[in-house]
Amino acid sequence: MPTVIIRKAMYDYDTLRPAFFEIMDRLGGKSIARNSRVVIKPNLLSPASPEKAVVTHPLVVRAAVQYVHERNALPVISDSPAMGSFEKVLKESGIKDALKGLDVEYREFKKSVAVTAGGLFHTISIAEDALNADVMINLPKLKTHAQMLLTLGVKNLFGCVVGLSKPEWHLRTGADRDMFARLLVQIFNAVNPSFTVLDGILAMEGQGPGRSGKPREIGVLMGSGNAAALDSVVCRMLGLAPEELLTCRAAREMGLLGGEIAVDGEIPEIKDFEFPVVGSLLFGPKKLHGTMRRHLVQRPEVDEATCALCGECWKYCPAKAIERKGRRIAFDYDKCIRCYCCIEVCPHGALKAVETLPGKVLRKITKR
Ligand code: SF4
Ligand code: SF4
Repeated sequence: MPTVIIRKAMYDYDTLRPAFFEIMDRLGGKSIARNSRVVIKPNLLSPASPEKAVVTHPLVVRAAVQYVHERNALPVISDSPAMGSFEKVLKESGIKDALKGLDVEYREFKKSVAVTAGGLFHTISIAEDALNADVMINLPKLKTHAQMLLTLGVKNLFGCVVGLSKPEWHLRTGADRDMFARLLVQIFNAVNPSFTVLDGILAMEGQGPGRSGKPREIGVLMGSGNAAALDSVVCRMLGLAPEELLTCRAAREMGLLGGEIAVDGEIPEIKDFEFPVVGSLLFGPKKLHGTMRRHLVQRPEVDEATCALCGECWKYCPAKAIERKGRRIAFDYDKCIRCYCCIEVCPHGALKAVETLPGKVLRKITKR
């Protein structure tokens, strides 16, 4: 049974550090081996000062680094910010200042490797450094999220998807939140962080996760070895049924979160927490969403000379986007969610993902 630990805390390092250390000790942090490479993954969404509650507070990051030092291991701060450069986020968040004088490596997630994740999206490209870490300490911020309701432990790991692949995934999953939640849980499962410690001291409510949200004092640090269990307890704390957070529901359905969760500490009762008005998963003007997906994301194409019209692809396609038209197959690229399952199941190697011209141009401009 997963355990979630809750401790009252504030941004006063003399009290925050022991609270953080106690949580880590109770989660088994003493097992971190000497000289192991420990990736610390805060929420570094965008450049913002700590009082905006957009990023994990620098003192929480400092406590994590010092905990790793106590184990004689090697801390590495990593993320792939959605907006702004990694350097800029570290500077404006105050993390660089808070870690001054400490021996720590800063390493932006850059190189991805494809992992077979199972489920709907068979193959997901995830930051190599996240997958190769000896240990990962996931440090999410408690924030609202205008597309997914909340961003907590599981959603924080979407930062392990590098750079522009993030909006590409939004396009691929379309407006289907359940599908996006399942993708997030697949990423959580692939990265499998050893520890998750949530910064819920100054949280965010309203239209998060960026500057449109409003800081809200809650005053807790929460930890668990299972980020989905932690998220579930945060929901209870905020007066939300855990099944209403789609990542929690998906984690249960996918067998990553069982029935019971042990809670060590008191769950504070948070009244009147302001949840966001949930909007589209996609960015930009609504009428352009279909066009953006159609034109920016690689799409499956058939080599008609090789296709044996065996039917495997159209039988398998979850979006029912393939049909036989006489002696050839045809794709409905509006319906296609770019899961590329058809390519994987084609027994004749007749399908491949082809980059669109606008997608190629965008990739060149952004040097992906
Ligand atoms: S699975 Fe491959 S060979 Fe079979 S119909 Fe589809 S594209 Fe053609
Ligand atoms: S056509 Fe291929 S890539 Fe598109 S949804 Fe169907 S299986 Fe997935």
